[in-house]
Amino acid sequence: MSLSEIGHGAEDRCTRCGACLAVCPVYNVLGHERFSPRARVQLVRVCQQPDHAFLSASRGFRDAFTACLQCGACDSVCNAGVDTSAIIRSVREEFLVQKEGWKGHLLDFLGTAEKSKLSETVFAMLARIPVESGLWQRFSSFGARKTGRIVPLPAPESFLAQKDRGKKNIANAKTVFFTGCIQNYLYPEIAEKVDALFSAELIIPVDQGCCGLPAWASGYRVRAQETVRRNLNIILANNPEAVMTACSSCAFMIKQWPELFEPGSEESKKARHVAGILKTFDQMALEHGCVGSSVALPLPADARVAYHISCHERFFLKDHKRRLEALKKITGRKISPVESCCGGGGFFSVSCSGLSRDVFARLRVEFAGKYDVILASCSGCLLQMRSLLHKSSLTSEETQAPLILHASEMLSARKL
Ligand code: SF4
Ligand code: SF4
Repeated sequence: MSLSEIGHGAEDRCTRCGACLAVCPVYNVLGHERFSPRARVQLVRVCQQPDHAFLSASRGFRDAFTACLQCGACDSVCNAGVDTSAIIRSVREEFLVQKEGWKGHLLDFLGTAEKSKLSETVFAMLARIPVESGLWQRFSSFGARKTGRIVPLPAPESFLAQKDRGKKNIANAKTVFFTGCIQNYLYPEIAEKVDALFSAELIIPVDQGCCGLPAWASGYRVRAQETVRRNLNIILANNPEAVMTACSSCAFMIKQWPELFEPGSEESKKARHVAGILKTFDQMALEHGCVGSSVALPLPADARVAYHISCHERFFLKDHKRRLEALKKITGRKISPVESCCGGGGFFSVSCSGLSRDVFARLRVEFAGKYDVILASCSGCLLQMRSLLHKSSLTSEETQAPLILHASEMLSARKL
């Protein structure tokens, strides 16, 4: 695809009004026009001119299109209908992805792992994560580029591996539980709690894979298609009435699945069907009568609780108000919203780790000293906030950091 096909006239529709600058987390941290959404759209225009085409191979071009969280804030305020986040994804796909694909990331990681003499146990844990998982991007970048991020190692046994060992057939189960990689490999305790709440209802296909979001957002469209095609076949083989996920980024991606395939194709129809029967954890919890009065809450009555609205919920799914009300009912708590971007953005948190921290610092100001618990429905936000707040050696400031929990964890007997 050429740059004029990628822009598709958007670069002419852009009136350069600047509305997108005010909401872009990256621009707000860096303050340079070249990292604004508007500048990226105009860069697509400039590079279409034959005497400026060479710029598309420049470091500045790569940096401008790498430093984007794919949060969608810019799209949401543009009166000219410019879909900047989609333009950035297409530029990544055509100009920035490594030719060797994720295999390159994997080889990077293995090389580094060998040098750092990781134990065989750790290797064995990592080996269980399929190459298709977006987690490889995190591990590979963590190791190879020394980002200094605390990326938790996989749990000794993934949630789906546990399920595979103790397979049970539930005759009346009609809802497929789609776990996503972070809950499956890093935080299986969250998936276990969700399973414990609705177990009579859930079908859990143990061979399900990554939702495809890390690949799609990074420009690896073919990889995302392969992953989604496989998931569709696995999910639909169970003939479910509903598909439930407890991760809002997986929910966002499942809603995008139809866009990965030719309109009208069989795959597009299957993807549309699955997107149409999708439900979220909070919806299912309400359906099952999980309300504050009927569950054991582990928190002090006066604990101050906030709900972090992820960018996917706020700008794409647009279901954050409903979620907030549902969470209040489920937990029986007063819950305040916090809205700033966490700076996670999937791969952004490792490819632009310093910038990611600076974006997070703004969110931290929003909740510092005000809350005891921050609830997150997005596994990526949960990972980002836990990684940056709860380090291995605690300082006095960090001990005061709020607990970062998934809503399902408030419904369990956890002691503060
Ligand atoms: S909000 Fe839209 S029209 Fe205004 S500068 Fe940004 S991309 Fe251009
Ligand atoms: S998607 Fe978010 S980070 Fe990327 S340009 Fe738009 S507002 Fe900025």
